[in-house]
Amino acid sequence: MKITVLSGGVGGARFLRGLRAAAPDAQITAIVNVGDDMWLSGLRIAPDLDSIMYTLAGENDEQRGWGRVGESERVSAELRAYGVGWPWFTLGDLDIGTHLARTSMLRDGLTLAEATDRITSRWQLGVHLIPASNDEVETHVVTESGEMHFQEWWTRHRAALPALSFVHHGLADASPAPGVLEAISDADVVLIAPSNPVVSIGPILAFESIHAAVSSAARVVGVSPIIAGAVVRGMADACLTAIGVATDADAVALHYGPTLLDGWLVDETDAALAPTIEAAGITARAVPLWMRDPASSAQVAGDALRLAQDL
Ligand code: GDP
Ligand code: CA
Repeated sequence: MKITVLSGGVGGARFLRGLRAAAPDAQITAIVNVGDDMWLSGLRIAPDLDSIMYTLAGENDEQRGWGRVGESERVSAELRAYGVGWPWFTLGDLDIGTHLARTSMLRDGLTLAEATDRITSRWQLGVHLIPASNDEVETHVVTESGEMHFQEWWTRHRAALPALSFVHHGLADASPAPGVLEAISDADVVLIAPSNPVVSIGPILAFESIHAAVSSAARVVGVSPIIAGAVVRGMADACLTAIGVATDADAVALHYGPTLLDGWLVDETDAALAPTIEAAGITARAVPLWMRDPASSAQVAGDALRLAQDL
């Protein structure tokens, strides 16, 4: 079975780790958001690709929830002393190793997808990671005090500056990376991970050709990142509010819409929302959606596959 997943960083990574366990014989491809990517201190940073890679490699810091396990921050302290980079954005030393490797490959002329293939080949991930695009398409946030890269709004301002809108810089001249559209159209099942709908899944679906491919894909099932009217981790509610979508599992399903989605998983505590979703033409099912550990993540992913098979 071929399964293709649209994914952001940390939430997507947990889901993919669960999916790998739930479908050990499947050929899994993840189309990964690049909207958070940026140049910083001369390095190309790709946070969502790296969050997924570290998690699937078992190299992630479970306690902190992001980054590499056993990380140190000596290089960032040096960069701060030189006044280089963002003082409020610390990169771990091991993580900087990844960024150096990626930047070096890009400088040698590899595309981001080729660099990702080389970087991930170090581990047996069991999931093929494809960046949504090889082109630089960065998410910026428009606020009353000006426009800034998503990372500055999210990390420096903790998403507290009201966002007026999100823009995808470079989108007009960008195209999906080779293999992205094929991975969607050839898939038996397309899954939308419980990732931030606005700044993780949004920048992927902003490519019209990707949106069209998912819309005409065989079976498309999404997993709600919202449980009981709250974001499970992070500050995704600030993003949803900015685009006028309520922080509710049914509102997010309707935001993706029935053209895109065939099925939608909500948490068991949101079972009462299923009729609204079904009335919109999307098959809804209520199951536990907390990904507390690898076992509960595998349960969530398995339920997404079961819904896809029952459609
Ligand atoms: P990021 O790129 O690192 O921000 O990660 P993602 O966009 O992939 O995922 C972030 C989203 O995952 C958050 O907005 C949460 O709503 C969602 N999320 C995190 N943990 C869980 C969980 O255990 N269950 C569900 N259903 N959603 C989760
Ligand atoms: Ca992200």
